[in-house]
Amino acid sequence: MREETLSLERVPVSTEGYDALTVPVHRASTIRYADAESFACRAERGADGYVYGLYGTPTHRYLEGKITAMQRGARSVLLPSGQAANVCAMLAVLKAGDRVLLPDNCYGPTRDFAQTDLPGLGITAEFYDPTDLAALERQVPGARLIWAESPGSLTLEMQDIPAIVAIARRHGALTGCDNTWASPLNFRPLEHGVDLVAEALSKHFGGHSDLLMGSVTVADPALGLRLKAQMGRYGIGVSPDDVALVMRGIETMALRMTRAAATALELAEWLAGQPHVARVLYPALPGSPGHDLWTRDFRGASGLFSVVFDDAAAPHILPALDALRVISIGASFGGTRSLAAPSAVPPLRSATRWTGPEFVLRLSIGLEAPEDLKEDLARFLAAAETCIAAARIKKS
Ligand SMILES: *Cc1c(COP(=O)(O)O)cnc(C)c1O
Repeated sequence: MREETLSLERVPVSTEGYDALTVPVHRASTIRYADAESFACRAERGADGYVYGLYGTPTHRYLEGKITAMQRGARSVLLPSGQAANVCAMLAVLKAGDRVLLPDNCYGPTRDFAQTDLPGLGITAEFYDPTDLAALERQVPGARLIWAESPGSLTLEMQDIPAIVAIARRHGALTGCDNTWASPLNFRPLEHGVDLVAEALSKHFGGHSDLLMGSVTVADPALGLRLKAQMGRYGIGVSPDDVALVMRGIETMALRMTRAAATALELAEWLAGQPHVARVLYPALPGSPGHDLWTRDFRGASGLFSVVFDDAAAPHILPALDALRVISIGASFGGTRSLAAPSAVPPLRSATRWTGPEFVLRLSIGLEAPEDLKEDLARFLAAAETCIAAARIKKS
C-alpha cells in the first residue's frame, strides 16, 4: 500500500477490556458495512441499528436511552434545540385540518411558530387560559392536541396536568408538555398520561450555557418509531460532541438544580418582602400562585422565577438593572451563572389578560454564593429606588 492510501486506512485497535465510565464520542457520517449484502439490507437494522450518521451513533443512543429512562418513556429523539423539540413534537401528531390548543403562557417562540407557521400547514392554533380547566374543556371538542407547559414561561402559572390529561382523553385528544422548567428530575409528564414530553436540554441538562439541544420522549413505542422516522426524513440530527456535553451535564444536574432551587427560594422569600416588589411568581414559594399544585405533583424546583414590581418601580427596572455586577443580563436558564431577563408579557398573551406592569423580571439563579446574589439584587433595588426618587423630583 502506498503512503496516501495507508494514511487513510484505519488500523485495527482492540476494544476488549475497554469499559470507560465516560461516554465515548463517536463522530460519523458513514457507517462501514462488512459486505454488499448487509449494505443492501441495511433498512432491516431497524430504528436502533446503525446505518448512517444522521440516524445516530452509539453516542446518540446513550443520551436517547438516558432521557427515555429519566422520563419513564418508550423512545426519545434528539433535536438541535428546545424550540425544535416543541415544533417537532407538534408536527409528529398534527396534520392539515387539525386544531391544537396551546397555553397562553407557552414559550414565546413556540407561540410564534403556532401563530405564524401552523396556519400555512392547514392547522389551526388556539390559545387557552392555562389555569381555567372549565374553559379548556369547552374549547377541546374536535381538537387533536392539547399542548401544556407547567409552570409556564415568564409568569410561571402551574397547570393541573392530570386534570388536563383527563379532559383530553374524554375528547379523544392527545397531550404534549414542555417540561423544561422542571426537568424529569422534578416532574415526569408521561407518568401522568401525557403522550409527548419536550425538554430544552440547553437548560438544566447541558447546564453550562454552552450548547443548544432538545428532546422529545413518548410513551407509545409506535409513535416513537414514527417520530424517529419523521426526524430522519426532515434531516434533523445533533452533533455527538454536543451530546457528550449533555451527558456530562446530566451527571451533576440533580446537584445543580437542588442548589439553585435552594438559593432561589431564599432570594424569592427575601425579594417578596422588599419595597416595590408587588409579587414573586415562583411555584416553590409558599403563598405563590400554583404552590398547591407544585406541592402535589412536583418533587422539587428549578432556580427560575419572576418578580413583578409595583407601578412606582416598574418604569425604572431596565435602567436599574445596569447596577448588577454578579448577575448577567441575558436569556435562557439552568446554567451555572445567574441571569436576569426583563421580559414584556403583554405581547405574548392573547387568551388571558395580564394585569401587572408590562415588564416582569425573570431571574435564573445559578451556583454563586447566595450572599453575593442578594447583595447584587440589593444594588439593583437601590438603583431602582434612586430612579423613583429622581422621577418624583422631576414631577414636582
Ligand atoms: C428555552 C426554552 C425552550 C427552547 O429551548 P432552546 O434550546 O433555547 O431552543 C423551550 N421551552 C421553554 C419553556 C424554554 O424555557
